[in-house]
Amino acid sequence: MNKDRKLIIAGNWKMNKTVAEALDLSRALKLELAGVKEVDMVVCPPFTALADVSKAILDSNIRLGAQNMSEHIMGAFTGEIAAGMLKEFSVRYVILGHSERRQYQKESDALVATKALAAHGASLKPIVCVGEMLAERESGQTEKVLERQVTGSLAGLSKEQMGETIIAYEPVWAIGTGKTATTAQAQDAHAFIRGLLSRMFDDTVARRVRIQYGGSVKPSNARELMSQPDVDGALVGGASLEPRSFGDIIKNSI
Ligand code: PEP
Repeated sequence: MNKDRKLIIAGNWKMNKTVAEALDLSRALKLELAGVKEVDMVVCPPFTALADVSKAILDSNIRLGAQNMSEHIMGAFTGEIAAGMLKEFSVRYVILGHSERRQYQKESDALVATKALAAHGASLKPIVCVGEMLAERESGQTEKVLERQVTGSLAGLSKEQMGETIIAYEPVWAIGTGKTATTAQAQDAHAFIRGLLSRMFDDTVARRVRIQYGGSVKPSNARELMSQPDVDGALVGGASLEPRSFGDIIKNSI
């Protein structure tokens, strides 16, 4: 598949995998994906496995991501992890504003924007998640929701920082449900987001930003989704927990 933007496919392991299991998965992925150069590949284990996974993939083409981080640099924030701490383990990417964090931890667009700035401050690339709920889609509010989330969650970023930011469009109704957006629904939402970026920043930035699709991506639908002109990769939950399915998503996307 020939695109100006290099595909980026990331696995969000969520609250799964002990250190031993994370190491097994990392080693299997290293073998499975050894020859792949066409796609930027990222795994996002839980915090507890970052140190070991980091060592396991050090000499590979797989990069490390975290699933969240604090908006603060350091200090009295019990239970939080700062961007600088992630850097100690060679983390390059960080997922921000995942719908599960928006839902369960009540993360707001403003908080996500503060975190995105903090991530850039530590030279981490944020993967900023946006996406509408089922009721919002059904009531015709998808674009309104996306506009609010995109403008709010990326507020304050410079053009240069935006160019190094990844957006994940994840319709909430498609996450972990087995329901995938149709290729047309995904393409429409991605094109709409790119249009917003063009207005917020400029055309050059909008053309540069990679927009991932997330929501029940699996080996059988990866090729069709990635073939859409504005779909530049995937954020994968469930199917990233097995080496074969994550590997096949990547191989089928090339
Ligand atoms: C996700 O949680 O980011 C996700 C896309 O999950 P799944 O692939 O399981 O739908």
